[in-house]
Amino acid sequence: MADKFQAVVIGGGPGGYVCAIRLAQLGIKTACIESRGSLGGTCLNVGCIPSKSLLNLSEEFHKVQNLSNKGIEIGEIKLNLPKMMKSKDKAVTILTKGVEFLFKKNKVTYFKGTGSFKSKNEILIKDDKNNELVIQTEKTIIATGSMPVSLPGIKFDEKVIVSSTGALKLENVPKKMVVVGGGYIGLEMGSVWSRLGAEVHVVEFLDHITPGMDREISNEFMKILKKQGIKFHMQHKVESVKKNKSGAVIFTSDKNGNKKDFECDVVLVSVGRKANTDSLNLEKIGIDLDDRKRIKTQKNFQTNLENIYAIGDVIAGPMLAHKAEDEGIAVAENIAGQSGHVNYDTIPGVIYTTPEVASIGKTEEQLKEKNIKYKIGKFSFMANSRAKAIDDAEGFVKILADEKTDKVLGAHLIGPHAGELIAEIGVAMEFGASSEDIARTCHAHPTFSEAVKEAALSVDKRAIHS
Ligand code: FAD
Ligand code: NAD
Repeated sequence: MADKFQAVVIGGGPGGYVCAIRLAQLGIKTACIESRGSLGGTCLNVGCIPSKSLLNLSEEFHKVQNLSNKGIEIGEIKLNLPKMMKSKDKAVTILTKGVEFLFKKNKVTYFKGTGSFKSKNEILIKDDKNNELVIQTEKTIIATGSMPVSLPGIKFDEKVIVSSTGALKLENVPKKMVVVGGGYIGLEMGSVWSRLGAEVHVVEFLDHITPGMDREISNEFMKILKKQGIKFHMQHKVESVKKNKSGAVIFTSDKNGNKKDFECDVVLVSVGRKANTDSLNLEKIGIDLDDRKRIKTQKNFQTNLENIYAIGDVIAGPMLAHKAEDEGIAVAENIAGQSGHVNYDTIPGVIYTTPEVASIGKTEEQLKEKNIKYKIGKFSFMANSRAKAIDDAEGFVKILADEKTDKVLGAHLIGPHAGELIAEIGVAMEFGASSEDIARTCHAHPTFSEAVKEAALSVDKRAIHS
């Protein structure tokens, strides 16, 4: 007799595991199927967590080399890469095991294997030894996430031509690394290997990095990364990559058709990710996909089939862990008869480089395009006492508020702890706050968050420290 569940979640990433836990909390008999052998998805295994671990460790390595400028003398500093990788792996193991513990605590049944549709109420699970099991379900939530894409004719070997997954476990520091694509992954992983000693070249198709980000921030970001030693080759399209004895050659052409080749020992291709839909046997049940093979959903995350839902990277929207998690909670609450929802206007985006870059709401470019009149408040970390005290004062806070109502429409930060500071603006925006509301809120001194308050004051041209 097949196991019977009220809900089955396919995929145990931040979308899927959070959804499964919330369903169980709401009293729904739930199972979650995950194929990679450990829970946490891309995020915990080969994404957010290992990359943030390496970003932190490489930043510590870089910082410690400059401590003598600040009166702290230490002996010779050496990199022990295998030990650094072990430290990263330990963080991953602790967190993935933690999710398994949460499943037990919440009584979510965990199946290890690949899930696919046998019918719209039956899921076939195949484990890595090809054992098969069919379970029955009333509702299914597809949360199978995404995987790296490459360019035509370029295959990942994860040693010389690497995706983010290979870039997280290189055995040696490359002498020269070419990063194809100046987006989130390219700049985070490029920063890691640059700090550890590689000469890093970013080859980007557009004339600016991090497409979609407020342009003023993107320009400042590139200026700072250049100062750190990363080299940029803008408006260069990568056409092909060929491996040779010592690594690879990258063939590019610029907008005028001029060719330029780059030799390197490792090339990281980070030109985006694609939805994981191939393993699900979706054709069998007739689930609609969009032109990028993402699952089409309505507002309540329902697909074209009434009892099947989809969330996270496998549907449209920013490919971010917190977006997937919030969708997981919302769909679980909807299934339980509540009114779960996600406010897509207030999803922050953070790049965990040094300095961090954080963004929420509309950019100046989007406001101009929509003909919305706005005011700008800006405050530099150079005038923030905490940032100056610790000599970490690059960047600024920029707040965009409606010209008439003063409602906060967006905020864009580059600077120390920007990824934490953005949360205050998220809360403000959720409550429909004005820039004056932020400006009138008492912020502790001396903190980086005072730069947010001063930027809010500056919307009305009354910043005190600039
Ligand atoms: P995933 O995390 O991809 O999880 C889906 C899971 O489903 C996978 O484990 C997969 O094995 C499993 N699966 C697929 N098909 C099947 C099947 N048929 N049966 C069973 N299981 C299946 N986002 C942030 O917000 N912050 C960051 O700092 C950040 N850093 C990142 C760094 C890197 C290097 C990368 C690659 C991504 C990063 N992201 C970050 C993006 C983030 O990881 C994703 O947006 C997030 O993991 C999406 O969650 P998800 O649950 O939709 O999918
Ligand atoms: P991305 O979309 O962020 O950036 C891809 C870049 O590659 C773009 O700038 C694009 O113009 C460029 N590009 C495309 N084709 C090219 C070509 N032929 N030659 C040169 N450049 C080319 O994609 P990504 O960096 O691979 O990251 C994928 C997703 O993972 C991100 O969109 C993000 O949602 C998520 N992610 C998030 C974080 C974070 O939240 N901190 C970190 C890593 C990844």
